[in-house]
Amino acid sequence: MKIIKETVGGEGAALAAGDLELIGALARRPLAREEVYTFSVRLCDNEIDRDFERFLPQTLEELAPMFVGKSGIFDHQWSARGQAARIYKTEVIREPERLTRAGDGYCWLKGYAYMVCTGSSRDLIAEIEGGIKKEVSVGCSVERSICSVCGCDRTVTDCGHEKGQEYGGQLCWAELEGASDAYEFSFVAVPAQPMAGVVKSARRGGGQAMARLEEEAALGRKYLENLRGEVVRLALLADRELDGRAVKSLTDKLSPAELEELKKSFARRTGEKFPLKTQLQYEAGSAAFDEENRAFLA
Ligand SMILES: [Zn+2]
Repeated sequence: MKIIKETVGGEGAALAAGDLELIGALARRPLAREEVYTFSVRLCDNEIDRDFERFLPQTLEELAPMFVGKSGIFDHQWSARGQAARIYKTEVIREPERLTRAGDGYCWLKGYAYMVCTGSSRDLIAEIEGGIKKEVSVGCSVERSICSVCGCDRTVTDCGHEKGQEYGGQLCWAELEGASDAYEFSFVAVPAQPMAGVVKSARRGGGQAMARLEEEAALGRKYLENLRGEVVRLALLADRELDGRAVKSLTDKLSPAELEELKKSFARRTGEKFPLKTQLQYEAGSAAFDEENRAFLA
């Protein structure tokens, strides 16, 4: 079962003792400290994501060595100049004090990547150092997808439980188990407001699949941004005492299903309160959102 996840990544990382040896082994020639630029990437974690899937800590441990030596490609602007990065080291970072929605300690797979410095890599390095957020698409394969409600393997049995639904108060999600392969990762430029989002698509190999994935990711972000904007607007309409910023930051933490629910409920309430005005403001509001998002997508 092939999986592609998106995460937010790209942060400068200092060289540690022994790193140059690891890098030299991959590059098949010794490289001097001045010749390489290193940075870290958040590859994947054990939080339940927007597809209601998560990697088990054990799966992250299995993926860790598989990502070593894998290449990272940058979006069109950069790949045209032949930029590539390579993961030379990985580690599973455990943050036990932070609990996942599944109730266990948070952990994530951190990848350390290097680039060989050339004249044209200077701008890219400045972008990473400057903290411009990039989304990272990460691909891997797992053998099993275990239903959190009944424990069946969803790749062989259809138990009928739907991810994201609750059964007797228990949320249904899928646990991705048995890592079998890891693929290259790619950086996708994010226009604005990157969400710690996750987009998955069947991997068909090659650049075409990546391009399609990028397109889907952009559409998904537009939909979510619209939805969040709508919820904030309706919430403020329903209760003018609310703090807009607080509502906005709350919507950033909600899943699409939760946002749809809220939107319905607020729409009902505002519909009762302001039957005529709502319609007008709704149209004005959504048009403004479309304008904004067109600018992001351009
Ligand atoms: Zn099930």
